[in-house]
Amino acid sequence: APLASPPSVKTTCPYCGVGCGVKATPDGLGGALVEGDRDHPASQGRLCSKGAALGETIGLSTRLLHPLVRGADGALARAPWDQALDRIAAGLRQVIDAHGPGAVAFYLSGQLLTEDYYAANKLAKGFIGTSHVDTNSRLCMSSSVAGHKRGFGSDTVPGSYEDLDAADLIVLVGSNAAWCHPVLFRRMEAARKARGTRFVVIDPRGTETAAEADLHLPLAHGTDALLFSGLLAHLAESSAFDAAYVRDHTTGFEAALASARAATPDAAATARACGLDEADVARFFALFADTARTVTCYSQGVNQSAVGTDKVNAILNCHFATGRMGREGMGPFSLTGQPNAMGGREVGGLANQLAAHMGFSPEEVDRVRRFWGAPHMATHEGLKAVDMFAAIGRGEIKALWVMGTNPAVSLPEADTVRTALAGLDLFVLSENVLDNDTAACSPHVMLPAAAWGEKDGTVTNSERRISRQRPFLALPGEVKPNWWALAQVAARLGHADAFRWRGPADIFREHAALSGFENAGTRDFDISAYAEIADAAFQDFAPVQWPAPRGRAQGTARLFAEGGYFTPDRRARFVAPRPVAAVRAEPPFPFILNTGRIRDQWHTMTRTGLSPRLGSHIPAPFVAIHPEDAAPLGLREGALARISSAHGAAVLEVKTDAGQKRGTLFAPIHWSEATSSHGRVGPLVHAVTDPVSGQPDSKATPAAIAPY
Ligand code: SF4
Repeated sequence: APLASPPSVKTTCPYCGVGCGVKATPDGLGGALVEGDRDHPASQGRLCSKGAALGETIGLSTRLLHPLVRGADGALARAPWDQALDRIAAGLRQVIDAHGPGAVAFYLSGQLLTEDYYAANKLAKGFIGTSHVDTNSRLCMSSSVAGHKRGFGSDTVPGSYEDLDAADLIVLVGSNAAWCHPVLFRRMEAARKARGTRFVVIDPRGTETAAEADLHLPLAHGTDALLFSGLLAHLAESSAFDAAYVRDHTTGFEAALASARAATPDAAATARACGLDEADVARFFALFADTARTVTCYSQGVNQSAVGTDKVNAILNCHFATGRMGREGMGPFSLTGQPNAMGGREVGGLANQLAAHMGFSPEEVDRVRRFWGAPHMATHEGLKAVDMFAAIGRGEIKALWVMGTNPAVSLPEADTVRTALAGLDLFVLSENVLDNDTAACSPHVMLPAAAWGEKDGTVTNSERRISRQRPFLALPGEVKPNWWALAQVAARLGHADAFRWRGPADIFREHAALSGFENAGTRDFDISAYAEIADAAFQDFAPVQWPAPRGRAQGTARLFAEGGYFTPDRRARFVAPRPVAAVRAEPPFPFILNTGRIRDQWHTMTRTGLSPRLGSHIPAPFVAIHPEDAAPLGLREGALARISSAHGAAVLEVKTDAGQKRGTLFAPIHWSEATSSHGRVGPLVHAVTDPVSGQPDSKATPAAIAPY
């Protein structure tokens, strides 16, 4: 008799913030056939090269399959779960007793499921009493979060991907969407085909996205806020200005306009400030003013900046001024980097947040304390990622639990991070893989965590859409979900009752209930429609956009068309950016080093590095430089060059690229010591951060380059 086909499972891609739906059909041998899920509204059956290669990356050859505990001899050795968990609980208790809860920190990841994130935040902020819980999302989009909070009073993305289908103009700022959000870019291209949508790309680099633009503005590094201030001054004089929206739904317009007029009164002044051609700036201003259906997408070139929050607010100002907010085909749109960057924020994944988008006001602290029955509620914001690792380096934080991220590669000044990790009294690492650069920093305990294909829970993409990640593979070896390990440690610390979850559905229900707790429409994040969701309905959960308050389980596609912001007076805030000049680099570091992603790799390659197909796209770490910068330095295409900054050095293959702005370099972030002996660029990147968001400026480190 023919064998029955194994059932397909609908899940979500674990890479970028587009959050594409994936249909996985296990082959019964540990592998799976992966294809796009046509029913998923975010992706409608599409997958990019990385998503399509997921089936090649689910083998066990690199996996951590058992807990490891460091013995008296200094070596990590396999240990039973109970021993590993006892060691963590005892180590935490020791540090808390000797130094207080503020000596404990958690460093989480946009790769975690929302339920894992929730468990870590509840344990840390409610039951240990430390708010030093930050995440690699700090490196990704925290400037957008901070800008949205200033502008909207909340961490909200007003629109949907559907608005890209309906837009006549898409402005992409600091975004190489063609490589970094490929399926969304395909959707933008489809809009262009269907309705003639025009693209403006604002980026110092001539990227694959810029190559498809109707207008590319290769502005000087750090001047995005000046460009949008110039645009605001222009819009105020144009027929696009929506006086009624500004009057009825905003405050601060006059001050923002005065500031914009002082810095960039017209296209000529804006062009000078941004290092652009005046005619191009004038064309951009006219296009924006004349096109009602405009979506402005922004990503890491905006966020990863010392002035990232101001850049976001400068963009929001232009949408407030035109009333292009939350209406079909219009609005500002933050493209998040990671699959669950938004889900982490929903449960308090940033050090300046509590769960359900609450902050640290006394009322919010008290509300969360009462909901959790928390005995040791953190009452103040914790340290953000860069400051957290600096505190570890100074010996002020003595216990750290890292989950699903590789800070020894990805944080700025990464060699300093590595040194800091080695000095901890307790270093716990929850990981999928056995070997990476962070695992090489002497953790005391390594816990084997469930990976994509095994995980069971939810993630939220860039358009506020919550989707399920469902398992289609059995947990291998002694692998466990992160939430389970956290609950086990909580029980050992005396808090078993508050962490008695049978599975992810229990956590999701609790999280949904907290989002609606004492929330009469005053907070943006509300999914209380699911506070009593049955296990079977959680299993079948179809993607939905929050807010989904009680009685509205179908979710919400757009917000703010009629105001209703989450500020105390329900009005949006214009924010005048601080005046800044373009970033300049001088000898001995005369170049500006910009770091970022390439098309076919993800983060530190622990998964994508397993696919030969993906590896063949760009097989080795490189540095891009303009040919006219390369020639006088004797740098030849394909030869090796040494890149150095005040903080570190790397050796990379030279790629001459006429799309590279003169005086700038670009290098990818993906390679590490685990994958290359010389291509790790994290040590070079300066640890300068945005003063509002704390997000590192990974796009503008002064650097030097010479033949190797
Ligand atoms: Fe995955 Fe992003 Fe590619 Fe979609 S676009 S398949 S979410 S990496």
